[in-house]
Amino acid sequence: MNWSEFFGFGKQCRHDKVPIDSDIHYCPECGELIENQWYITRCSCCGLKHITVIKKGEIMPESDFCQNCGSKDYLVERIDKIDCININYAVLIKRVIDQNIKEYTQSWENTTQTTNCKQKLLK
Ligand SMILES: [Zn+2]
Ligand SMILES: [Zn+2]
Repeated sequence: MNWSEFFGFGKQCRHDKVPIDSDIHYCPECGELIENQWYITRCSCCGLKHITVIKKGEIMPESDFCQNCGSKDYLVERIDKIDCININYAVLIKRVIDQNIKEYTQSWENTTQTTNCKQKLLK
């Protein structure tokens, strides 16, 4: 993987058509399953929410220090459900869901089979 691929430039799809109001959605352009992940940063000292940006591929506050207490330490927090307040602070990452998830379903089915098998043995 080269850097332009990592940042989603070049030929790779940027999944711009994925609606941001749904958690998981197939990209209409490339067909990948995309999960919208929202992140905010907070001051780790006073807990103040920061406006969050992505710099050099890292989630971080827009300003270098907390405007409330002056601390430079921050925490990155994932938000399950975006709302009209947090959307002003949050940053959105469109993450491609690994197709290997299908294999989890497979192993779950196998487990069920095993359970059925055990039930048969018990009878
Ligand atoms: Zn796409
Ligand atoms: Zn603070």
